[in-house]
Amino acid sequence: MIQEANSSASGGPQAQTYEGGAFHPAFPNGRATGMLMVGSLAINFTGKAGELELPLAGLEITLGGASDRIVFFKHPSLPETTVHTADHEILKVSVFAERPELAAQVARVRGKKRSTVAVWMTVLGVILALVVGLFAARDPMVNAVTRQIPPEWEVQLGEAAFTSMTSGNPPIEDASLDRQLEALTGPLLKGIGEQPYPFQFHIVEDNTINAFALPGGHVVIHSELILKAKSAEEVAGVLAHEIAHVTKRHSVRNVVKSSGMYFLFQFFLGDVSDLVGVLTSNARYLLNQKFSRDYEREADDTGWDYLIKADVNPRGMITFFETLAHEHDDNPVAAVQESLSFMSTHPATSERIARLEEKAKALPKDRQYQGFDLNFAEFQNSLRAKLKKEVVPEKPAVKSNSGTKQ
Ligand SMILES: [Zn+2]
Repeated sequence: MIQEANSSASGGPQAQTYEGGAFHPAFPNGRATGMLMVGSLAINFTGKAGELELPLAGLEITLGGASDRIVFFKHPSLPETTVHTADHEILKVSVFAERPELAAQVARVRGKKRSTVAVWMTVLGVILALVVGLFAARDPMVNAVTRQIPPEWEVQLGEAAFTSMTSGNPPIEDASLDRQLEALTGPLLKGIGEQPYPFQFHIVEDNTINAFALPGGHVVIHSELILKAKSAEEVAGVLAHEIAHVTKRHSVRNVVKSSGMYFLFQFFLGDVSDLVGVLTSNARYLLNQKFSRDYEREADDTGWDYLIKADVNPRGMITFFETLAHEHDDNPVAAVQESLSFMSTHPATSERIARLEEKAKALPKDRQYQGFDLNFAEFQNSLRAKLKKEVVPEKPAVKSNSGTKQ
């Protein structure tokens, strides 16, 4: 800060003062604060504790302190005296420029100051580039970490989550229902080929329309989803999507991603034991997780391919989403939250329907599909019977929706 202390009288161009301080054994604690003034022959310090003077001839100018922020003045003839200021404006005083030996020192000091700034800018730049780079490379890094996790761990993890989840509401056990469900899932699994995951499908009594997959291969289907679906192809569409979440390892990728940079660094330091710990303690979290839109898209695309490989009409995937959207229209109040948990974990449904419809357009028009060796209406009725719901030959006229069977 420049203090215009001497604007009156014959001050002249050098008559400026700078806030600063001085070291001298005569001061209390050896130090004092005050003002510096550069005259034509000497640099003067004036403070409450006293006054000091350093001749300009032979003056030594250096930088010091944190980040070289302080300018120090010393003189070899006065080894106990040091005056200083943080105000670098002092270096611009013309008397320094007029004395070649001082001008040289000022030039050196200012060069150092610049290079210090340059070093800090470089360090900052490197840090910034690292952070930006890490974020840009984040998904590849997440995938790299995930690749190091053996599928067996995922299976164990899914097992832990499944046990904890089904302790309150165990899956329905019924040989006949299992057989019918197998008629639906068998062709799908054949379609996806070799996988390290032992897929198991379970029906759980739950009156929300939902299905989800745990890492490692457990797929849980809510009874209401089967009862609300209009065809086996619709259920297959949902299951293919869930299977894709497993094969694309979305749960583990999610855990790795949400565990953050710490995790990634830990991994690159070579310690993966932590990873297992984090995963295991997150087993419950797996039940409530939501996938990103990217993962949902990937599951849609991969599931779609699985359906085609299994010779199942993939349009069931679309009509099921449309059924959900319809439910939404028909149930404007509380029932919506009840019945639409699949939508809440699978958001942006209209966007997804639009994407899938594009895919459907690309299919050959005359393509025939094998379908399933399953009477879907009978399957639904078996389930209703098991749930002790009223077994009906046709759907009851509760909703205005039409179209009850495949
Ligand atoms: Zn999904």
